[in-house]
Amino acid sequence: MREIPFGRPWIDDQEKSRVMDVLNGHILTHGPQGTEFEEKFAAFTGSPSAVTTSSCMASLHLASIHFGLEEGDEVIVPAQTHVATVHAIEIVGAIPVFVDCELETGNIDINLIEQAITPKTKAISLVHFVGIPVDMKKLMQLADAHNLIVIEDCAIAIGSTVDGKHVGLWGDIGCFSFYPVKHITTGEGGMLICKDTKNAEAIAHFRAFSVDRKHNERKIPGVYDVTGVGLNYRMSEMQAAMGCVQVDKLPDILNRRERNFKALKQGLLSLPNIHVLDSPDARLKNSYYCLTAVLQGKLASQRTDLIEFLKSRQIGTSVYYPQPVPRMTYYQEKYGYDAQKYKNAATISDHSIALPVGPHLNEEDMAHIVNAIADMTQEKAA
Ligand SMILES: *Cc1c(COP(=O)(O)O)cnc(C)c1O
Repeated sequence: MREIPFGRPWIDDQEKSRVMDVLNGHILTHGPQGTEFEEKFAAFTGSPSAVTTSSCMASLHLASIHFGLEEGDEVIVPAQTHVATVHAIEIVGAIPVFVDCELETGNIDINLIEQAITPKTKAISLVHFVGIPVDMKKLMQLADAHNLIVIEDCAIAIGSTVDGKHVGLWGDIGCFSFYPVKHITTGEGGMLICKDTKNAEAIAHFRAFSVDRKHNERKIPGVYDVTGVGLNYRMSEMQAAMGCVQVDKLPDILNRRERNFKALKQGLLSLPNIHVLDSPDARLKNSYYCLTAVLQGKLASQRTDLIEFLKSRQIGTSVYYPQPVPRMTYYQEKYGYDAQKYKNAATISDHSIALPVGPHLNEEDMAHIVNAIADMTQEKAA
């Protein structure tokens, strides 16, 4: 039977041989691979600079610290996102203020942000939901009018642009993930980009203990000074070596994802009770992380059946994201949960299914998924 995993790292001999080259050398961290990966990533996104980190969560945490979010500050966050977007605010003692999402895109509803702003609001931290970009032009007008810092969680938005400008360069910082099922992978790993290089440089320093100079700049080995507190959120040379190869594959990866997404969306149009989340217009370029199908009508209550049916046909699926963040136990117990406020987030969490469109798949696989869903819906009708 044809097997269609939800995500599968796209790795071949090039990554393997570059990682072996690193292991055959002597520099396993803060070396030339990291620098090259940063340069390549900056070039791909059109950013003046890029900084490797150990994960997207690390990048987000660094952002909260660098931009001075602290106890008592309010930060506007989407109710529908990966918990990392919100943890990065909570971990520094700031208060997440949740805003519901749009049903068409899963993105934060910009029209609801204004009423959530108070004198304590210091920042907006948003996510580009499954690669569908937030309309950053509109969001930045609001943020600038209120003098707010803007953090972009771009974990699954490599290749997403707004009016041709890559996401992460509209706000103050963009944070990326190289976890295995994301667009490109280094096992674990992350990156951050800033439109203002001064911010990127300061964060790079902080993410390496705030040591006063880089490893290769130390005049006497082992002798250095420290100019502030800091963390160790660096990426290793083995990971960066993988990243250098992976970044070169991005144009091909993005083309394959787009081709698969369009084929799958087209196929699903012929089936009743399925609503596909997508970007509303060409200004907002999707990076096609997955296809989010919101089940409606009588299908809405059959999500578990559908997931299990697809699993029996060897088709992998996922859920982005399993709960609105304010409904998750930790946040619910701390801040309470008003279901009326996050209806759209709950609809997507409870009634959607994420279908695979990764570069390991082709248009025949997409047809196979459509046929399987059609079979299940017919079985139910019969
Ligand atoms: C995966 C993901 C993260 C977490 O990335 P890590 O690199 O695993 O820390 C954060 N935000 C979003 C939107 C994600 O999809």
